[in-house]
This record gives sequence, C-alpha cells and structure tokens, in this order.
Amino acid sequence: MSASVGAQGRHITCPRCGGENPPDGVFCGNPDCRKALGEFKYSAEEIDRESRFHERIADRVAAFIGNPYFIVLHAVWFLLWVAINTGVITMSVRFDNYPFGLLGIILSIEAIFITGFLLISQNRQSSFAVKRSELDYEVNVRTFREIQSVKDLLQSMQQRIERIEDSLRER
Ligand SMILES: [Zn+2]
Repeated sequence: MSASVGAQGRHITCPRCGGENPPDGVFCGNPDCRKALGEFKYSAEEIDRESRFHERIADRVAAFIGNPYFIVLHAVWFLLWVAINTGVITMSVRFDNYPFGLLGIILSIEAIFITGFLLISQNRQSSFAVKRSELDYEVNVRTFREIQSVKDLLQSMQQRIERIEDSLRER
C-alpha cells in the first residue's frame, strides 16, 4: 500500500504524470496533473472518469448560463435587435419588425436547449452526491475494518502479556 510507503518517508510517485511528491502529499504537486495520491478512490476523479461527452457539454453550458456574461450578452443582443428593427440604428436593414417574431422564435428554441442542458447538469449533480456518499462509505468501512484488526491485535497482545505475567507470578 502506498500509504505505508508515504508513512516511511519515501517520496510518492504520481501514477499519472510520474512526478515525485513529498511523502505526505495528498494531491500531485504538478499543477497540470493534481491527481489524488491516496489509497482510496477520489470522488471528483471518479465522477470525471465516468462522465459522458454530452454531460460534460451540459456542465459547460450550465456554467456559462450561470455566468453574469450570459445576461450581459443577452441584454446587448436584445438592445441591438430592437435598435436595428425599430430604426434607431438607421444604417442597417430591418429584418424583424415589431413585435419581433423572429426574436421570439429564436428565444423559444434557445430556452428549450437551455432547459435540456440545465436538467442534464442538475441530474448529474444528484448523481455526484450519490457517488460521493458511496466513496465516503467505502472509506469508512475500510477504516473501520483496519481499526477492528488493530483492536483485535491489541487484545491478543494484552492476553499474551497477561499470560506471561501470570506465569511469572506462579514461579
Ligand atoms: Zn501527477
């Protein structure tokens, strides 16, 4: 187990980039790598590995929608659209007169896609929580078993010491 390797003061070699890390390293020191160096699966890495292409896109879209630029971009878009089609900007040709039916259609289509992406991203968030609790449970169970075996070992040592003490007293 690499934990014992770390505990003995030897450097931990990163399994992904091969970089050397200090014995107490938890994440790889290479800023491009940042691999978790522990004995147990790391939830963020597991989730990342299991995620499919469309889910990654949904996450990016959701991140962009949650960005203030998204609102600014739309505000600029609407202002320009209205300005062009009401004749405020006179240089260009009007292509969507009041009440801006084309803009309405484009926004409806956009809303459908945004809803879809947000729902995919939201479903992922709940599956993240399940995965995280699964991995937490695994660590807890393994830790409990390790402690149990240490406890058993201590008990057997205690019994042996008592037996030795008894035999010494009998002499
Ligand atoms: Zn690394």
